[in-house]
Amino acid sequence: MSKSKQTPGFSLANCLCSIFGHRYKVSKKVTPHVTEFQCSVCKCEKTTDDRGHIVSLTPERKEINNTLAHFYRKRHRQALEY
Ligand SMILES: [Zn+2]
Repeated sequence: MSKSKQTPGFSLANCLCSIFGHRYKVSKKVTPHVTEFQCSVCKCEKTTDDRGHIVSLTPERKEINNTLAHFYRKRHRQALEY
């Protein structure tokens, strides 16, 4: 896979982001260690991986995060019930 390229079509937003930097807002808390972010300007999405690195939120990542969230909630609930 090639390095993540910005999708064309958001040229103004991309310009703003390249000048001022992305303005990420937390869009979803997956686990205490994994969080999804979305830039409020260009709408690009990022997530932290299990090592705490910020990476592009690809559809595969989204699926991984959904699975993580599912298992996390399950484990968390079991711990609470126990
Ligand atoms: Zn941006």
